[in-house]
Amino acid sequence: MKTMKRLSWLLLALIANTSFGQKKQPNIIFIFSDDHAYQTISAYGSTLAQTPNIDRIARQGTLFKNALVTNSICGPSRATLLTGKYSHVNGYTLNEKKFNVGQQLFPKLLQQNGYQTAWIGKWHLGNLPEGFDFWRILNNQGQYYNPDFISPTDTTKVEGYVTNIITQFSVDWLNHRDTSKPFFLVVGEKATHREWLPDLQDLGAYDNKTFPLPPTFRDDYKNRTAAQNQDMTIDKTMRLKEDLKVHANYEKGIYGRFTPEQKKVYQAYYEDKISKEFDEKKLSGDALVEWKYQRYLKDYLSTARSLDRNIGALLDYLDKNGLADNTIVIYASDQGFYMGEHGWFDKRFMYEESLRTPFIIKYPGVTKPGSTVNQLMLNIDWAPTILQIAGVKVPADIQGASFLPLLQPNTDKVSWRKAAYYHYYEFPEPHHVYPHFGVRTEQYTLIRFYGAGDSWELYDLKKDPHQVNNIYGNKGTEQITANLKATLKKLILQYKDEEALKILESR
Ligand code: CA
Repeated sequence: MKTMKRLSWLLLALIANTSFGQKKQPNIIFIFSDDHAYQTISAYGSTLAQTPNIDRIARQGTLFKNALVTNSICGPSRATLLTGKYSHVNGYTLNEKKFNVGQQLFPKLLQQNGYQTAWIGKWHLGNLPEGFDFWRILNNQGQYYNPDFISPTDTTKVEGYVTNIITQFSVDWLNHRDTSKPFFLVVGEKATHREWLPDLQDLGAYDNKTFPLPPTFRDDYKNRTAAQNQDMTIDKTMRLKEDLKVHANYEKGIYGRFTPEQKKVYQAYYEDKISKEFDEKKLSGDALVEWKYQRYLKDYLSTARSLDRNIGALLDYLDKNGLADNTIVIYASDQGFYMGEHGWFDKRFMYEESLRTPFIIKYPGVTKPGSTVNQLMLNIDWAPTILQIAGVKVPADIQGASFLPLLQPNTDKVSWRKAAYYHYYEFPEPHHVYPHFGVRTEQYTLIRFYGAGDSWELYDLKKDPHQVNNIYGNKGTEQITANLKATLKKLILQYKDEEALKILESR
């Protein structure tokens, strides 16, 4: 089996280096945003907002329609990017842990193979980076305004808006890099994370727009124990003051960092306009929830507007500096996000909105402009793909597989996984989503919630794309359930998830 795997790697490496006409060791920029939902990206068909610069990458590259994460929260997704391994193997299952940076991280292998590496922006792994020649990271979650940046020597408060600063630092580093080496740069964005503070110039950008309610906005969570018990609704969990800036406290917390000028502009918008409108309307019940939904989308999309504009600035930089032809640009989010589907914001669940994440790659000379891939690609595949692109041997303990074969014109002939494994852990805080693991195939999702929320769910994605009809245990599903359970067990064994195996075999 191991020899087979090695052989196929050799073949893949051969393909990548010959028939793709790849230049030796291209530069790689990985733009990694936070909580950016594919439902809000126009390249993914969204009509909520336009994202012209992300679309630019898609127009020149390949868009993955079924890029899935293996544990849908921030830190664990970053740990998986760095290791190409599931959370239970790289040790970072929850946001509040300290990531073991001493383990094998693929940027260390890039360094050993002639690359210079940099991570700029949000890191959020409880420890300082290893494997990067240059790093400047946000403190923990980071702040939208005048954020603290940690470098190997100090922590400095930098005046300005976080997305603009991250772009500026990235460009500064690109300008001063060692041009004799290829580079790998991670641009770690804070946007579009809660509490969605837009840049001053984007305040009110969507005020003339009324967003349609998603079909599952008033979901009753029937036959779904975990959905009934979560704490992530726009109705009950989203806070008027802290999240939606209605009569915010401008003296402390995130606003305590503002300059007087920034505060003035914010108050003119959120206090004099939005809070005033809120007071006058005296909303309650459904009308209040819908108002919150509209405000949530407006703030979120305004934050994404700056993100997209800054991506445009990075692409322009590559164009202007003659780097575009030999630089791979990847745009991805750390996971998906709910934009009111099921009445929610946040992520965590193994349902489509948070399981799938945007992933677009522009690989000059390799990706067919405007192409798409439907296969199940996982975030454990990112590390081995980048290693293969760089011509570095992929260590056998990496659990993902390079997706380069999927960039070929005819992917039907490529042998690829037909089922994806997922495992989420963080419970009960925040948002009270029961831990669960499961399997997703082209047509079905089977989920096992465990602990206090012990239950199974089964969805037919063809008949029920919004996942409101849990058919687990229904007559006629016996065979498909047995097949999916067998696949689930096979994946658990393959990825060596002993905790899940114990739970699966306990009854
Ligand atoms: Ca995130």
